[in-house]
Amino acid sequence: MIQTETVHKRVEVVADILCDLCGESCRVIPKETEGFDGPERFSHSTLKFHGHYWSGYDCLFFELSLCEKCTMEIFERRKTATQLRTDVL
Ligand SMILES: [Zn+2]
Repeated sequence: MIQTETVHKRVEVVADILCDLCGESCRVIPKETEGFDGPERFSHSTLKFHGHYWSGYDCLFFELSLCEKCTMEIFERRKTATQLRTDVL
């Protein structure tokens, strides 16, 4: 037997993610908004830096959120053969 009850909880949700480079929102606007009642969706990347003990940035740590545009600009600057992938979620 499943028993249910109605509860009211305060839940913290992500309202937006702003790009740390350009300041733009990373929110994805659904192409069809009619009937869309899902959670907010964001398209972004996270750049993490952790300076090693003997580096020029000893023990410095930070994370940056980047929007699609800034992420792709950085991706296009790569000097390696890393390729775009579409086979992962
Ligand atoms: Zn950006």
